[in-house]
Amino acid sequence: MNVAVFSTKAYDREFLSAANEAAGHELVFLESRLTPETCRLADGFPAVCAFVNDQLDASVLLPLSREGVQLIALRSAGFNHVDLPAAEQLGMTVARVPAYSPHGVAEHTVALMLALNRKIPRAYNRVRDGNFSLDGLLGFDFKGRTVGVIGTGKIGAAVAKIMAGFDCRVLAYDVARNPDVEALGGRYVTTDELFSQSDIVTLHCPLVPATYHIINEESLARMKRGVMLINTSRGALLDTRAAVRALKSGKVGYLGLDVYEEEAGLFFEDLSTRVIQDDVFSRMLTFPNVIITGHQAFFTRNALEAIARETLENISAFERQQRPPGLITAELVRA
Ligand code: NAD
Repeated sequence: MNVAVFSTKAYDREFLSAANEAAGHELVFLESRLTPETCRLADGFPAVCAFVNDQLDASVLLPLSREGVQLIALRSAGFNHVDLPAAEQLGMTVARVPAYSPHGVAEHTVALMLALNRKIPRAYNRVRDGNFSLDGLLGFDFKGRTVGVIGTGKIGAAVAKIMAGFDCRVLAYDVARNPDVEALGGRYVTTDELFSQSDIVTLHCPLVPATYHIINEESLARMKRGVMLINTSRGALLDTRAAVRALKSGKVGYLGLDVYEEEAGLFFEDLSTRVIQDDVFSRMLTFPNVIITGHQAFFTRNALEAIARETLENISAFERQQRPPGLITAELVRA
C-alpha cells in the first residue's frame, strides 16, 4: 500500500524501513509535519502515517479524504490530536499503536523524578566545572514518600510498580481500578485525597475533555507545599500558566515535563539557533527546579521497533480489508 509518512526523522526511516522489509509497503517519507499547508503532499495516497504533533483536525482530514486517503495510521498511543467524529463522518479508518513500550515511558518518568530530586543536571555541570560543592544539591529519600498516580493504565501501573519498589506509598486515581496496582498495595482515592497527601503527583491519563487542565490553579492549591509534579502524558493535562505561578510561589517544588501543551512546532526540531517565541515555555526554562525533556519518554529502541512493526501491521490489515489491531473504535472514544 502507498503510504505518505509525515513528520519523519532519520530514526523513523531506519525503523520503519527495517520493519517494512517483511511488510512490503510503498513508504514515502516526508519530513514535514502534517498541517493544512502540507496535506497536499498526500494527494493520491490511500494511507497517511502520522505522529503526535501532526494536525488531524477537520481542516486536514477533509482535504485528505477528498484526495483519496482512507486510513490514518498513527505512530502513537495517544489520539487526542485526531478529530475522530470528523474522521468517522468522512468514512476514514484511524488506527494507533496502543502499547508499544509502557515500561520505557514509565522509566523515563522515574528518571525525571530522580533527576529533579537529586539535581543531577546541576551536579553534572558542576563537577565538569571542577566545582565539587554540595550546596544546593540536597535531596530526599523516596522511601516512605507518597506518590499519587493519576491514570493507572499500562504506563501508570508500571510507574506505580517502580515507585512501590522504592518503598513509596502509592495512591491512585482513575475512572477504572487496575487490580495490578491494588495488588502492589496501591490505594484508589479521590483526587482530593491524592492531591492533599502526595509528595509526588504523576500524570498518566489520556488527554480527553474530562482531563483537560486536570492540574490547574484549584488542584494545585489542594497539593502539599513543595510537591513534585511530573507530566509525561500529554501537555494540556497541565495548565502551564498555573504551574508557572505555583513554581514562583513555591507551591510546586519540582516540575518534570516531557510534554507541553504548545509543544507542536517546538518539540522534535533543532531550534538551537532560533529565538523561541513562546514566553511561557521560555519562563519555564528559567526555573532551577524544572526539568523539561522534548517528548522523548517513548524513545527507546524497543519502542521504535514495536511502533514500526505495529504501525505496518495496522496498514497491512487495512489493505487486506481486515480490522487493524490498533483500530480506534467508537467504544474506545466513549470510554
Ligand atoms: P492506557 O489507556 O493504558 O491508560 C490510561 C488510563 O487513564 C486508563 O486506566 C484509563 O482508565 C485512565 N483514564 C481515562 N480517563 C480518565 C480520567 N478522566 N481520569 C483519570 N483516569 C482516566 O494508556 P497508557 O498506555 O498508560 O498511556 C497513558 C498516556 O501516556 C497516553 O494517553 C499518552 O497520552 C501518554 N503517552 C506519552 C508518551 C511519551 O512519549 N511522553 C508515550 C506514550 C504514551
